[in-house]
Amino acid sequence: MTGNSASQVETSEMAQPHRFDYDVVIIGAGHNGLTLGCYLARSGLSVGIVERRAEEGGGLCTEELTLPGFLHNLHANYHTFVNLAPAFEDLDLYGHGLEYVRPEVQMASVFPDGTALTIHTDLDKSCESMARFSKKDADTFRRLYTEAHGYVDLLLHTLMYEPPMTLNELTKALTVFGVDKRSEFLEVGLRRMTITEFLDKHFEHPKIKAHLAFHAAICGYTSDIRGLAVGFPLLVGKIDNWHVCVGGSHRLAHVLWRDFARNGGVIHVQQAVEKILIEDGRAVGVRTEDGTEFYARKLVASSVDLAQTFLKFIDKEHLDAEFIGKVEEAEAKKHKFWTLFSVHLALEEPPHYEAASFDPDVDRAWVVNLGYDSLEALNSDWETIRKGLAPSPRPNAAVNSLFDPSDAPEGKYTGLLRQFVPYALRRKGAYEWKAYGPLYASHCIEEWRKYAPNLEDSKIIDYVAYTPLDIEEKLINMVRGDWMMGEIAPDNLLERRPFPELSEYRTPIRGLYMCGSTQHPHGFITFGPAYNALEVIAEDLRIEKWWKKV
Ligand SMILES: Cc1cc2nc3c(=O)[nH]c(=O)nc-3n(C[C@H](O)[C@H](O)[C@H](O)COP(=O)(O)OP(=O)(O)OC[C@H]3O[C@@H](n4cnc5c(N)ncnc54)[C@H](O)[C@@H]3O)c2cc1C
Repeated sequence: MTGNSASQVETSEMAQPHRFDYDVVIIGAGHNGLTLGCYLARSGLSVGIVERRAEEGGGLCTEELTLPGFLHNLHANYHTFVNLAPAFEDLDLYGHGLEYVRPEVQMASVFPDGTALTIHTDLDKSCESMARFSKKDADTFRRLYTEAHGYVDLLLHTLMYEPPMTLNELTKALTVFGVDKRSEFLEVGLRRMTITEFLDKHFEHPKIKAHLAFHAAICGYTSDIRGLAVGFPLLVGKIDNWHVCVGGSHRLAHVLWRDFARNGGVIHVQQAVEKILIEDGRAVGVRTEDGTEFYARKLVASSVDLAQTFLKFIDKEHLDAEFIGKVEEAEAKKHKFWTLFSVHLALEEPPHYEAASFDPDVDRAWVVNLGYDSLEALNSDWETIRKGLAPSPRPNAAVNSLFDPSDAPEGKYTGLLRQFVPYALRRKGAYEWKAYGPLYASHCIEEWRKYAPNLEDSKIIDYVAYTPLDIEEKLINMVRGDWMMGEIAPDNLLERRPFPELSEYRTPIRGLYMCGSTQHPHGFITFGPAYNALEVIAEDLRIEKWWKKV
């Protein structure tokens, strides 16, 4: 059977033949696997994607976790690369039915003293909000945002949608550009600075610094990791680009599937890969747990984790010991040290924050930081997490139904609380979440209620805790609940992600490529790893590039 038949999702029951032949076989139908599939299918190749779960999308999963009609985005809720990633235009995602809402009040921090700060799509309004705390910081933010916005395209091109340059090349480019003279905020020294140090250098008010560090944190950038200040201006440049995916995040997966399908691509669901088939040192396909074989005439691409790809799927004799050692080292040392605990809620009404009497816009904000009012508060939670302890909750809250009422039954609301936590708890490890999850969820809700007292029990129809263990059980590639599939840290960015020998999307096995979040730039719904792997594959296969360059 070839993969050029009309497009469909094949279930294992339908898949009678035990052999399929494609030009390209991709492991994993998350947004990266799907994106690479779409580009290659549009390039005229026959492509089969082999997916372990019963549906495509990976982290783009939307489920009625609490009650029927309440659509909960279990993983990727915030889409921040909308219209920045080339895939939106290249793959005509809007033409396939994708819709987004960009809330006017993007984000807020509500503080224990009843004050609040809001970030808007309108820069003037964000600055007005900041000026209530510090006029000087508001002016600094305006200059930082304006400067960062000016080079966001350049940064996207060089740091996201291009195979990685080395940190030294980047430093050299910045030096040649004369960055220290031409830019107020970019400087070569950023590569040695934490985000905390950057904020302390440029800003004065604790609450403004706390909000900006919180924003970085929810993008996966930890405020006390040395060197991450390098990425901070890019984060500020897109601080107002947070989008709600109408109908739930899975819609994005669905439109990618639609594009893939229209171009002859086939997704085989409920097919967990267990081996990569190798002949004469070349990857020629995969075998799944039920024995079905998917042959690839041209290449195999893996969008899953390093451990599965290199320690499980490939027999040891095909890889040299040094390379295996590097994979093992990355597995041991490069997972993100914190992950996310979520509470999904079905609500009778949205939160009404007490801080709305200070700034009414908080009730219209999408992502709300509950309580981080200083860098010290945030940084001390990272220390708590490093010790294997769940911090006293200071969750962030979002109610998507305020912007997309279709995600809840009429007149009701779907809510989300997210809290930074460790994967393994100190006493009994990750399994402790099974027992502790519901209690911790109730603490998170209590914390929310302190700021939004209307959320009394009668207003909460139902809620479900979704723990770090649940993440890993749903997506086995998110090892240790690692939602980034590799820490965002200088030793795991650019040419060091996941380690130099594997940073160019090619692998030591001919015909095998990596195209998922283990690769540069990193996790998140960026489309970046797939897009960059495509560049390398196009070069190797001499595929004529029809897509637009960033
Ligand atoms: C709790 C949580 C909250 C998050 N919030 C956000 C957010 O708000 N915004 C954002 O941008 N990102 C968020 N993320 C991160 C985001 O979900 C990931 O970065 C993104 O899904 C990675 O995409 P991917 O395609 O690389 O991998 P995935 O989406 O993980 O896709 C990999 C696919 O491979 C499949 N697979 C695994 N093993 C096998 C196998 N053996 N055989 C076949 N298939 C296999 C998996 O089932 C999965 O479908 C969040 C993640 C979590 C866990």
